[in-house]
Order: sequence, then structure tokens, then C-alpha cells
Amino acid sequence: MDIGFIGLGHMGLPMLGNLLATGHTVRAFDTSSGAIAQAVERGALPSRSVAELAASADVVITMLPTPSVVRGVICGPDGVLAHARQGALVIDCSTSDPHTAAEIEMIGAASGKTVVDAPVSGGVPGAKAATLTFMVGGSDLGFESARPILSVMGKNIVHCGPAGSGQAAKLCNNLLLGVSTIAVSESMCLGVSLGLAPDVLAQIINTSSGRCWVSEVYNPYPGVVADAPASNGFSGGFACDLMIKDLSLALDSAHNSRQPLPMTALSKQFFQVLSHQGGGSKDISAVVGLFKK
Ligand code: NAD
Repeated sequence: MDIGFIGLGHMGLPMLGNLLATGHTVRAFDTSSGAIAQAVERGALPSRSVAELAASADVVITMLPTPSVVRGVICGPDGVLAHARQGALVIDCSTSDPHTAAEIEMIGAASGKTVVDAPVSGGVPGAKAATLTFMVGGSDLGFESARPILSVMGKNIVHCGPAGSGQAAKLCNNLLLGVSTIAVSESMCLGVSLGLAPDVLAQIINTSSGRCWVSEVYNPYPGVVADAPASNGFSGGFACDLMIKDLSLALDSAHNSRQPLPMTALSKQFFQVLSHQGGGSKDISAVVGLFKK
């Protein structure tokens, strides 16, 4: 299968690597030429534009930062839908929002292309290990067409419902990730200030009722999990500014239904302080710095 991959960042590059490993032809595009060069090193074919990539691919996968970038790349005049073949499948793995995803699916259907939203959970470790969870929104046909490709990059492929449902599930998950990153930071810093060794405290939490994915796999306290971003200068993971985007999207999506999200709103403020202090591109776990002495 001829696959086009757009957005070769922290997540996109390792996901593309897993597609290449199973023998697919993968064409790569990114606005960063350095990112394209890294994809070519792994065996991808470089594309000079979104249009060139879309014209020759059976399937186009996007892994982009924000809903407005996703909309431009997929629906713009030089975008994927304008240049893809009839019957092509477009899989948007970016974290976007339910409304944008549903709109893009409708525009795609009107021009003879199938679009699904398929945001992911599992972070960079999951992207490298091909163990991502994909939350898929779209038609039954779209889901069944996307499933074999997503299975190469992940292990849980879940059909959440019609277009936009994948993004809805993703926003619910990520507000928990944001809130629990703050909560684990608070807890770890209290423990250390009371004289506990961070690794001992983490071991207790991870066998007690406070255990969660952040405490166990992504602990924000440096030195607790050797391969977590917190133990590697807060680099290489999920950028603080992307978390602010996700929490903002969750808050926006709750607006019409007046769904209260007080913990989400408060957590967002901590990430905004970190970003304001110059930490926007650091991993989310750098928020622990706001609680450390
Ligand atoms: P990133 O910033 O590392 O990568 C985004 C890539 O998109 C960059 O290489 C950038 O150059 C490229 N790009 C931006 N605008 C473009 C355009 N117009 N055309 C082509 N390429 C363009 O981000 P990431 O961490 O890989 O995250 C990508 C998406 O996945 C985001 O929506 C994020 O919220 C989501 N996500 C990230 C993680 C994580 O742990 N990093 C986990 C789950 C979901």
C-alpha cells in the first residue's frame, strides 16, 4: 500500500518507522526539512508538498499540532482532499476537536474520500513500541479500512462512534492526563519535603490507591522513571503547549452543554504558568518545577 504521512514530529516519526518496518511504501512531508530528512533516513520517500504526497497515496495519515493546522492541511486549496485520488482514505491522528473532525469528514465525503479521526494515547513510548491506543471516529467502512493500518502502529483500535467521537474520547482522556500530572507533582513534592526518598514514595504510590499512569510510567519527579522525560531534561515527550491546547479544547467542547470542568480549568492554569516562564516546548512533566522547593 502507498501511504502518505504528514507531520513528522515526536509522534509522527516513530509511527512512520513502524509502517516502514512492515514493508509499506511511505511518502513523508513536513514543513521542517530536517524532519523529512529523518524520515528519509528511516526509508521513507520525500515529498515536496502536501499536494504531491496526496496525489500518489492510497492512504494519507496526518499527525499535526492543532485543529487549524489540520484543517488547512486537509481541506485547504493545496490540501489533501483537493489532490487525493477518488476513494482515498484519510486518517487524522492529531488531537483536534470533535466539531472540526465531523466537518472534515463531511467535506471529504462530498468529494469522494473517506476521512476518519483517530487520535492516539500512549505518548512517544507507545509510538515507538507500536502499542498506541487509537480512538476512531467515523463510518463503519472508514473504521474497517483504517483498522489494518492502525494495527501496525498500535494495539488497541477502538471504534468510538461517528466522525468526531475519537476526538471526544481523546479530550476526555487528556484532561485526566493533565489533572493527574499536576496531582502526582503535588504529591511527590510534598513527600520529598517531608523527607521521603522520591523512588520509595513512587514505589508506595504505585502499589497503593494513588497509582495512575503518570505515577507509574511518566512520573514527573526526575530520577524516578529512568526513560521518562522528567529524567531526561524534560525533553522528547508531550509539549506543555500541546497540553494547553488539549485542555482548552476540552473546556471549549464543554461550553455549549455547560458541563463543569473545574479541575481541567485549574490544571490548565499551571501549564500556562510553565509556558509563560518559557517552558512551552518542554515536556508536561516540567510542571513539577512549580511545586519543588
Ligand atoms: P510535534 O510538534 O513534535 O510534531 C508536529 C509536526 O507537525 C512537526 O514536525 C511540525 O513541523 C509539523 N507541522 C506543523 N505544521 C505543519 C504543516 N502545515 N504541514 C506539515 N507539517 C506540519 O508534535 P507531536 O508531539 O508529534 O504531536 C502531534 C499531535 O499528536 C498533536 O496533535 C498532539 O496533541 C498529539 N499527541 C501527542 C502526544 C505526545 O506525547 N507527544 C501524545 C498523544 C497525542
